[in-house]
Amino acid sequence: MNEQDLHNLLILQSPYYEDFAPYRYEGSETISRISRVGWIRADESFTSGRVPPSLIKKLYLAKLSTLPVNFHFHKTRSGIPCTLCEPGNRASFSSELLIPRVDLPGSFFGSQSMIDHLITDHGYKPPDEFIDSVMSLDLSKPFDAVITFDEISLDIDSMVELYKIRANLFSGKVPNAEEQRYKNWLDLHLKNNS
Ligand SMILES: [Zn+2]
Repeated sequence: MNEQDLHNLLILQSPYYEDFAPYRYEGSETISRISRVGWIRADESFTSGRVPPSLIKKLYLAKLSTLPVNFHFHKTRSGIPCTLCEPGNRASFSSELLIPRVDLPGSFFGSQSMIDHLITDHGYKPPDEFIDSVMSLDLSKPFDAVITFDEISLDIDSMVELYKIRANLFSGKVPNAEEQRYKNWLDLHLKNNS
């Protein structure tokens, strides 16, 4: 297989969604409260244009966020490469960002975490609603994209069962902030319902 074949294969195996496509994750039901943004691919056309420089700075800060303010979810071990980069020198991403929508409270945008790369290196221009939502992010207000995504996509009973498993996985050692989130959620939920 030559370099071009590999490149074509990479494109075929990479995710692509139109902006505002409702979120679906690996065969699960459609999650209408989350809209995809920035899932562009080398073989598909996309909107390009200038964005405010402050957007890139805000995205950078949002990406640095760690609990108790965390916009990352669906972290993966291996990076998913950018199809628009040159072979051999590709950017990649290993998580997604969940951004609360300022134009539609209670709804969210889901983007790959390298959306800043797509903007700065490939000229992609996300929808104005996304730009406004990122610019409106309160980086000091507690937020956990992992829990929020689960609360949107799962029912409470499933979350309790899932989080019990996740919390038990880490029993016997001091949980770190990432692991503690499941225990905290269970503590709060079970207390409220006892
Ligand atoms: Zn790229």
